[in-house]
Amino acid sequence: MNLAANQLNSNSKPLKESENGAFIPSLDTVQQVDNAEREFRRASQSKSERWTLRTPTKRDIVARLERVSLEDALRLKQCCSAFRVLTCGTHTLRSYPTFRCKKLFCPDCAAERANRLSRQTEAKIAEAMQTNKGRLCLLTLTLKNAATLDGGLSNLKKAFTQFKRKKVFKERIKGYFGGFEYTFNPKTNDFHIHLHLIVLRGKFWNQSDISDAWRDVTGDSFIVDIREIKDAGKGVKEVCKYVVKSNDLMKMPDEKFLEVVKMKKGTRMFVSGGCFYNVKLDDADETDENVFSQFADLTEGDACPFCKEELFDVFVDRSQHIGLHELNAMPNIVKNNSS
Ligand SMILES: [Zn+2]
Ligand SMILES: [Zn+2]
Repeated sequence: MNLAANQLNSNSKPLKESENGAFIPSLDTVQQVDNAEREFRRASQSKSERWTLRTPTKRDIVARLERVSLEDALRLKQCCSAFRVLTCGTHTLRSYPTFRCKKLFCPDCAAERANRLSRQTEAKIAEAMQTNKGRLCLLTLTLKNAATLDGGLSNLKKAFTQFKRKKVFKERIKGYFGGFEYTFNPKTNDFHIHLHLIVLRGKFWNQSDISDAWRDVTGDSFIVDIREIKDAGKGVKEVCKYVVKSNDLMKMPDEKFLEVVKMKKGTRMFVSGGCFYNVKLDDADETDENVFSQFADLTEGDACPFCKEELFDVFVDRSQHIGLHELNAMPNIVKNNSS
C-alpha cells in the first residue's frame, strides 16, 4: 500500500499544466483520474478553502437536500459520479464527468466554475492592463441583510447598476468584474449578500468615500471594503471561488434551503464592465469536454501525442463516492474496450 502510494506520488509530479495547457499526469488510470481531479480542484483553492469544502462534504449536502427535494438531491448525487477518460495509460488526454448538476451550491460545480473563470480571464485581464494604467483592487459591496435570496439579489443588482453610473465611480474605476456571494445568518434567519469585484482603479478612492457613495444608492447599506491586490490570478479566484459555502447551506432551515435550491436557472451571478467588459463567465459555451479541446479530434485507437502509445476510452464509475473530494475510496473501473 505504502509502496504504491509512494510510486503514485513520485509519478504524480509532472501533474501540472504543460505549456500547451494539457494536464499530463503519468499514473495508472484509476488514480490518474482521482489525482487529476484533485489537482484540478486544488489549483484554485487555498488550504482553508479546501477545508471549508471538505466539511461538510457533498454527501452531507445531499442528505440535507433529501429533506427538501428528492429530485434535486438525486441530481446532486449523480453530479460528477462517473467520468469518461481518454488515456494511453500514462497520459490523460481528456477526463470529464459524464454529468454535472451545474448548481451553484454544488461544491464540485462551484470549483469547476472558479477554475473555468480563471482560465477564461487571465489573458483578458493582462490585455486590458496593457492599455489601461491603474491599480488592481478587490472591492466588496454589501447589502443589509435580506429576508429572501431573490429579493436581496435583485436589490443588490439594482444598487450596483446605480452605483456604476455615478460620476465618482466612472472617474475612478476603469474596469470591473466580479460575482455575487451570499452567506446565511441562522440567528436572524436572513441572507447576507455581497458583491466581490476586481476593479482597475485609476484615481485613488478611499474606503470612506466609497462607503458614502454606496450608502447614497442603497439608502441603508454602507459596509464596503477595498484593498489592493498583487496577483490578478489569485484575485479572480477570490471573487469567484463560491457563491455560497457548504457550511452556510447546512445552517439554513428547510424553507431557506429550498429558496437556494429553487433559485431561477440562469440567474446572473456575474458582472463585468469598463475595460474589463470582455471578461465574462461563459456558462453556455464551455463544458468539461472542451476544456481539453486541443485533443478534441483524438479518439480511441489513435496514438498518444506524447508517447505514441495507443489511446483507449475508459469509463470510471464513482457513484459510491459522492463528490470529487471523497478520494480515499477506490472507484470501480469498467473498460469499454480492453484491447
Ligand atoms: Zn454539481
Ligand atoms: Zn501517452
